[in-house]
Amino acid sequence: MCGIVGFTGSRQAAPILLEGLKKLEYRGYDSAGIAVMEDGAICVQKVSGRIANLCEKTRDGEAVPGMTGIGHTRWATHGAPTEENAHPHLSNDGRFAVVHNGIIENYLTLREELIADGYHFDSETDTEVIVHLIEMYYRGNMCEALIKATNRLRGSYALGVICTEEPEKIYAVREASPLIIGVGIDENFFASDVTALVNHTRNVIYLEDGEFAELAGDSVRIFDCLGKTVEKKVSRIMWDVQAAEKGGYEHFMLKEIMEQPGAVRAAIAPRIRDGAVVFDELHMTKEDLQKIRKIVITACGSAYYAGCSGKYVLERLCRIPVEVELASELRYNDPLIDDQTLLIVISQSGETADTIAAMRECKARGARTLAIVNVVGSTVANLADETAYTWAGPEIAVATTKGYTTQVALLYLLSVHFASLLGYIRADDPKTVKALQELPRRIQQAIDLNPSIPDLAKKYHASKALFFIGRNTDYAVALEGALKMKEISYLHSEAYAAGELKHGTIALIEEHQPVIALCCNPAIMEKTLSNIVEVKSRGAEVLALTFRNNQKILSVADDLLFIPDLDPLFSPLVEIVPLQLLAYYVAKENGCDIDKPKNLAKSVTVE
Ligand code: GLU
Repeated sequence: MCGIVGFTGSRQAAPILLEGLKKLEYRGYDSAGIAVMEDGAICVQKVSGRIANLCEKTRDGEAVPGMTGIGHTRWATHGAPTEENAHPHLSNDGRFAVVHNGIIENYLTLREELIADGYHFDSETDTEVIVHLIEMYYRGNMCEALIKATNRLRGSYALGVICTEEPEKIYAVREASPLIIGVGIDENFFASDVTALVNHTRNVIYLEDGEFAELAGDSVRIFDCLGKTVEKKVSRIMWDVQAAEKGGYEHFMLKEIMEQPGAVRAAIAPRIRDGAVVFDELHMTKEDLQKIRKIVITACGSAYYAGCSGKYVLERLCRIPVEVELASELRYNDPLIDDQTLLIVISQSGETADTIAAMRECKARGARTLAIVNVVGSTVANLADETAYTWAGPEIAVATTKGYTTQVALLYLLSVHFASLLGYIRADDPKTVKALQELPRRIQQAIDLNPSIPDLAKKYHASKALFFIGRNTDYAVALEGALKMKEISYLHSEAYAAGELKHGTIALIEEHQPVIALCCNPAIMEKTLSNIVEVKSRGAEVLALTFRNNQKILSVADDLLFIPDLDPLFSPLVEIVPLQLLAYYVAKENGCDIDKPKNLAKSVTVE
């Protein structure tokens, strides 16, 4: 994820681009750049790090003349966050510059093809193929070149393009990444979201997937993939600026919960090709895997709970024993780890100090390491033998949501990939591949199926404590659900394995004690049901999370949350979503600072 902006008119472009980028910085902030048309040539200024560095380099844009340009603030997906990899990217002939938000899934094939055709690459990004394709297809008509070039792309992209042959125009394209056109007076803009526009204009056009825009100072033309002009409505923005940064949501956390269908899609889609699970970025072979005697997953907080969910699927599909260890414990345990151990390290930021320390300890003992990380170029990513990125985009709220679900998604993909290498399942097993591909839609359904959550929050928010119970995969989700609740609502919440209650915890159950019971695994449904009846008999108030039409639960629970029907093997990824929403609304009822809970920080870089 990243932010892109474009401007054309009769004011100096660079200061406007930089101001817009600052507003978009929350979308990505590892490097930034602008390209401005100056005396018929393209002038590019790029930096690694924050936009502040770019402002310093260009004296807040004053040092860059020119009235037409594009800008980018990056959240690297392909290639480290260096100056070379920062956008805009230039064509070999210097006539075109491109900024891109998204991922080009087939970039490797295109890159090879372009290299064979004589193009050279200056960066490691997936983006650079786009600008060379535009150069290749340009025959004096930008619209045609853009249509032809984008025809070759698979994946998600919002693009901004400038061309020396048409020095007063900016071009934009949208496919599965956000892009908005700002319509001004004698000047026009585009941006990834309205925050970058509202200081200049409140009149906007929402581009749809597959639409292109050609903007000059005094004209806006939207066209489709056949080059045909599309009539679009100009809408008026009524949001205030702060709300706009959150896409209209009251908190980043809610926005990030709602972004999960897209984030999980971004994690899964590039790893399913021609109906089969593929992991281009991993190099482990069947022989490597056959040498592995056990897998150890290590992480902290929610990433640790993602590991707990992943253990079930890895063991079930790969038949390799999996241990999940807290990083802060593992390193001091004199761990039984050797060169027959695969260590899977999970960290959103890739900078979690405990995780890094555990990883170093295990590497020293010979473990092979595989990292599941969101932030490209982070320490964990650099230390690992193999890295798979979650591509969740920047997560601003301290309590993770899309960071966690994309980690679980990667563990599922990894399980299928390893199992196929070992010959237990085919990488193109239709049922499994379909179930994985359906996950983004199932998450959306889990959001839509539970409109009663704000009301349930009103009922439960004043409780002294909340208990989450579940068995097996449901237990792993209960752990994360309880953590989410305590992190942001400060309500005492604990997760218990449902079968364990009778061995002690049930002593805590008294009249009206809320118990959130996860009952999404048909194989052990009856057992969890018995545990629900046990707590009910002692006066508990039960809020059950289960799949639709589960008649058995309907008759016992006091309140219900639903997930759609889906493959139980992968249901934990979807089950957590209603629990995230419940935590959010309970915290809201309690008047908590949801995005910045007390005593916590986003990336825990101390041990
Ligand atoms: N995939 C592109 C890159 O890594 C764009 C990432 C973004 O959306 O910031 O450079």
